[in-house]
Amino acid sequence: MQTLKFAVLPGDYIGPEVMSAALRVLEHVAKQEGFALSYQIADVGGAGIDNHGKALPDSTLELCQSADAILFGSVGGPKWEKLPPKEQPERAALLPLRKAFSLFANIRPGLLYPDLTDASPLKAERIPNGIDIVCIRELTGGIYFGQPKATTTLENGEQQAVDTMVYKTSEIERIAEVAAVTAKARGGKVCSVDKANVLETSVLWRKTVTDYFAKNHPELALSHMYVDNAAMQLARDPNQFDVLFTENMFGDILSDEMAVICGSLGMMCSASLGTGQNGLGKPFGLYEPAGGTAPDIAGKGIANPCAQILSAALMLRYSFGLDAVAAKIEAAVRKAVTVDLVRTGDIAFGKPSVGTETMADAIIKNL
Ligand code: NAD
Repeated sequence: MQTLKFAVLPGDYIGPEVMSAALRVLEHVAKQEGFALSYQIADVGGAGIDNHGKALPDSTLELCQSADAILFGSVGGPKWEKLPPKEQPERAALLPLRKAFSLFANIRPGLLYPDLTDASPLKAERIPNGIDIVCIRELTGGIYFGQPKATTTLENGEQQAVDTMVYKTSEIERIAEVAAVTAKARGGKVCSVDKANVLETSVLWRKTVTDYFAKNHPELALSHMYVDNAAMQLARDPNQFDVLFTENMFGDILSDEMAVICGSLGMMCSASLGTGQNGLGKPFGLYEPAGGTAPDIAGKGIANPCAQILSAALMLRYSFGLDAVAAKIEAAVRKAVTVDLVRTGDIAFGKPSVGTETMADAIIKNL
């Protein structure tokens, strides 16, 4: 019997609520499909600060290092917002985790079911069939990490700050490969987003991507777009894209734009894949909802667990190679929301809504 070994880091506010629903779904499919789960739950974020003095306690990092994947909730909230920026739960937990596991590829499906178009700020006639795209963001390079990065005082007393955007060919090629593999499993269409009309890094990005696809994936339809245009096109006609991929800062912005046009954060999952392989020879990854800890609804049992459940499905697909089981969970979520019309408040549009656990029950019933 296959045993899936993963670390569970629920985090803060709604994190533990939606995580408990996702674990129930995983326990259910494990029993059905005949595999075993081996997971331990550990503090991270604000819970890490409160119980261990830091957002990523050593014991939590060690647990992650001994696992084949990390199922992450979300961290942060008003309780810790007075801490210095470097000690804030999100920055002090997620950045070191990304670094420790070289999580270089953030994959965010932008899926809006046709029945949920009301949740999108876009006009319904622009997205009659909903939205179905994937945004892939390079996560460990670019201007967020390049050196020098500093604020200095000039001779005239004025302050000056500098950030450095830097990319190597190898960093561009490995994210291009993730985009290519993703595009092959979908419509075979991939758009690389850059700012090659202005930035040196983008000139290298475009040349590297063009050469890499010509050599390794000539059958895929590759296009290029400047980031300012991509931001407009996403809002104008998102389904013109299938897979889009880009560098770190552009991806930060575009993936959040995609999340908002896809409606509720409660439905948006993500995967961050590392350079290393896990004990099963699959990519080590961290899987988490795209949204935050939703302090405004925490403790009421009304958070939408779908993003966490769909993140667990991505974990089964990428880190454990259980594609069919992942697809089964995705179908169960879709049916609960679109056929059974079981919906939490964020996607109920004024109609009667259910709580977190009832939503999870409906998904489990569909399994
Ligand atoms: P948020 O994503 O937590 O909430 C934005 C809105 O979306 C809120 O109205 C919230 O109720 C709603 N929402 C989010 N998830 C939902 C769900 N599952 N079901 C129903 N509604 C949901 O963003 P915010 O309020 O800006 O941030 C709150 C905290 O979360 C902050 O401390 C922020 O730093 C943190 N945060 C953490 C992560 C992470 O852990 N990766 C990501 C983003 C924000």
